[in-house]
Amino acid sequence: MSIVEITQVAKSYPPASRGAARIQAVNGVSLSINEGEIFAIIGYSGAGKSTLARLINGLERIDSGQIFVDGQSIPDLKEKQLRKLRQSVGMIFQQFNLFTSKTVAGNIDYALATAGWEKDARKQRIAEVLDFVGLLEKAWAYPNQLSGGQKQRVGIARALATRPKILLADEATSALDPETTGEVASLLSRINRELGTTIVLITHEMDVVRSIAHRAAVMEKGEIVELADTASLFLAPKSRAAKNFVATVIDGEPHGEDLARLRERHPGRLVTVKIPQTEERLQERVFTTLGAGKVSWELVHGGVVHLQDEDIAVFTFNFQGLSTDVDALIASLKQIVTTIEVGR
Ligand code: ADP
Repeated sequence: MSIVEITQVAKSYPPASRGAARIQAVNGVSLSINEGEIFAIIGYSGAGKSTLARLINGLERIDSGQIFVDGQSIPDLKEKQLRKLRQSVGMIFQQFNLFTSKTVAGNIDYALATAGWEKDARKQRIAEVLDFVGLLEKAWAYPNQLSGGQKQRVGIARALATRPKILLADEATSALDPETTGEVASLLSRINRELGTTIVLITHEMDVVRSIAHRAAVMEKGEIVELADTASLFLAPKSRAAKNFVATVIDGEPHGEDLARLRERHPGRLVTVKIPQTEERLQERVFTTLGAGKVSWELVHGGVVHLQDEDIAVFTFNFQGLSTDVDALIASLKQIVTTIEVGR
């Protein structure tokens, strides 16, 4: 059963400068999120992910389309009903958004009081949720006495306090180091399993998607360009955007055993290209070139190498086709970026 049902939803904003076109942040999105699943919305900055999240909890009004959350038609709700709805749609943020002047318990208490909980019930609930996230002993600490991961666990406890059916996590792990990211991701997964909470995970971090999401949608320029269960997305991404995202979690250039394994599995010619991420258009040109010829290509290995002041995407492709066509394709790629045939 779906708990979020979005049909042909659009949302635009006024342009930054006068006379320019309106910004189409979300453009004709249709999406159905099942009750009890972890659904990831993936995309680069500016793709429209946060806007979509704000439409789901009614913080923003849609321009057109239809959106049902937990059986209620969001556009038809009055402000008071929207406030009520937001109690069943908890939200956690990249920057935690805690009150620094309140204790951990005080932050959660505030959320409960706003939702109209009585004092005794609040006290008990605060203890319950802090225990659940493993921070009971930090109840009287202030946010700036906590690590990033602990702050986010407080953010999660606060969001859970009112027993939401849906948890919207907007880049909730993006400000954390990799180890802490893993811990917070595990906590989200446990919330989903033990409490049955539906989680909408907005992120550009594919490791998190891979480790906990059941399904994922990839957004680009306000539209959903691909929607699949997580395994299919990682094994056989179809859109260019999905291929790029998947490539970020597979390691860089293949060497040694990796290369031998690729060689064994793929009968074609293996070619690695290195695309500096400082120039946005380069990646687009590479994929356009790949699509233009007669050679069939498949992304088999890839990753991003982080250098001091630039990141380089390293993709290895398996090319299959006539050898003259493959030669021509390699020559075209070499005109754009560093291109190496590997494992010959
Ligand atoms: P994402 O979360 O994927 O980074 P956003 O939903 O934040 O994307 O933004 C999508 C587009 O809408 C961007 O071009 C952004 O600049 C624009 N946008 C988002 N919120 C506003 C706003 N309140 N006012 C004007 N433009 C906005």
